Amino acid sequence: RKRIVTIDGPSGGGKSTVSRALAAKLHFTYLDTGAMYRAVAYHCREQGIAAEEGPQLADLLASLRIELLPPLPGGDDVRVLVEGGEVGQALRTPEMGMLASQFSALPMVRATLTRLQQQIGAGGRIVAEGRDTGTVVFPDAAWKFFLDASPEVRAQRRAAQLRGKGETVDEQQLLAQIIKRDKADRERSAAPLQAAADAVILDSTQIPADEVVEQMYAHILA
Ligand code: C5P
Repeated sequence: RKRIVTIDGPSGGGKSTVSRALAAKLHFTYLDTGAMYRAVAYHCREQGIAAEEGPQLADLLASLRIELLPPLPGGDDVRVLVEGGEVGQALRTPEMGMLASQFSALPMVRATLTRLQQQIGAGGRIVAEGRDTGTVVFPDAAWKFFLDASPEVRAQRRAAQLRGKGETVDEQQLLAQIIKRDKADRERSAAPLQAAADAVILDSTQIPADEVVEQMYAHILA
């Protein structure tokens, strides 16, 4: 089995916070696969390409160049370059999450990004975070986790995150978006969001992120 940790689950369950902290603790590289789906959605929107399979999307994917760079000192989001240009915070809005979810249902998009993620993870020592990293991208990962939490708590955490970035948020609307996006992610036919059969399932509704990290770390060392 490869020295890879996978952390999958619905949006806002604390995956990014936990994945970053665990990667730092293990001295592994953090792989934010959601950022790659967001980058495709962003780039397609810029190019006027709709979320459906066709020759235009195929062309774009064939030559697509996505690079991930570590966060700047003091920042915590992975930096994403698309065709050499940095995208920035436009990637992190709830609207871009919804659009990413639409593009992520297309098998063409998944095939391209899965291949890229497998290249990045080829040497191991990765903490991969997403929806299908334990089921599809790295089925032979040594440690797999599925991190869940109630939709209400996930909406609260997302709201706090966005407020921390100086944005105003409508928590009810955020909750509705989260529920809608998760339903779409769970019910799509291409790589639906689900726990791998061999994943450890954790629920972070009542547990703070640092404790989740401790539980994962203990499991990995065991
Ligand atoms: O995790 P994040 O909210 O950034 O992901 C954005 C969207 O990208 C998700 O709602 C999901 O539809 C898609 N995604 C995916 N597979 C992954 C990671 C993200 O389908 N491994």
